[in-house]
Amino acid sequence: MITIKEYSKPKNIDEAYDLLLEKKNNMLFGGGAFIRMGSKNIATAIDLSDAGLNYIVEEDKLIRIGAMTTFGDIEHSLLLKENYRDMLSKSIREIVGIQLRNIVTVGGTVYSRYGFSDFLTGLLALDTTVNLYKQGSIPLEEFLRKGSKERDILESISIEKDNRKGTFLSMRNSKGDYAILNVAISAIDGKYRIAVGARPRTATLALESMNYLNGVGRELSSEDILKAAKIASEELVFGTNTRGSSAYRKQICYVLIKQGLKEVLDYED
Ligand SMILES: Cc1cc2nc3c(=O)[nH]c(=O)nc-3n(C[C@H](O)[C@H](O)[C@H](O)COP(=O)(O)OP(=O)(O)OC[C@H]3O[C@@H](n4cnc5c(N)ncnc54)[C@H](O)[C@@H]3O)c2cc1C
Repeated sequence: MITIKEYSKPKNIDEAYDLLLEKKNNMLFGGGAFIRMGSKNIATAIDLSDAGLNYIVEEDKLIRIGAMTTFGDIEHSLLLKENYRDMLSKSIREIVGIQLRNIVTVGGTVYSRYGFSDFLTGLLALDTTVNLYKQGSIPLEEFLRKGSKERDILESISIEKDNRKGTFLSMRNSKGDYAILNVAISAIDGKYRIAVGARPRTATLALESMNYLNGVGRELSSEDILKAAKIASEELVFGTNTRGSSAYRKQICYVLIKQGLKEVLDYED
């Protein structure tokens, strides 16, 4: 159960940040869906819904997505579809149901670096930057490795508009459950990015596999695809939990990367 003493709805991010630092147990609320699953005594709940952080906008070279944008907004955004096909909507459309997706936010998801996250894996295969109110902009890859050095607010994320083609795949025991493993792959000018998440650790890039593919220098053959899938499944560390063993995840990784690379190659034709 959570208990909340005070409730505040700041009008902008400056106000929200001041409130956050006022007390150790003041807490930011995105959609609040994950907070509600735990148990906490909260002094002031800082609801970000009036702080002007719900937007998906196109800038010169990037798309910027505000922290309070919901997964429902991502799923239906034509701007994201135009730029990244259905890669990002695919990464979230299996998450529970429409009601939940219309509540949960980009900020709550990215800042928390959940290991099971599907959306983070999709973002990692794109060229994504995390924009924090205090610490400034950090590439997503670095943010996932190091986290936030101090209490901060995720203001937005920005994704490079580079015409990358990408896909997202996941394996679940049943619809609505957390993924046993998820994979996102993108390609631009023969250069590939492969992200693997729900290992069950936080999403990471399969760097050796990417190096192999990026060194091929010609159209990928079926053998290249199998080799890249094998390298990735051997270089990454997988764990065991109630959803699957590390050995099972390794096998799934091989299969999803093989399938994902084929999909991306089909896009490029
Ligand atoms: C029942 C259930 C099932 C789920 N299944 C899946 C799944 O299968 N796959 C998947 O990928 N995800 C899943 N999720 C997670 C979901 O997709 C969101 O990632 C999660 O709920 C966090 O979003 P939120 O808006 O609810 O965050 P909140 O609950 O509001 O916040 C989560 C944390 O982030 C902090 N926070 C919120 N906003 C900010 C901000 N702007 N800056 C800094 N910190 C912030 C909060 O203080 C809190 O610590 C599931 C969630 C639930 C509740």
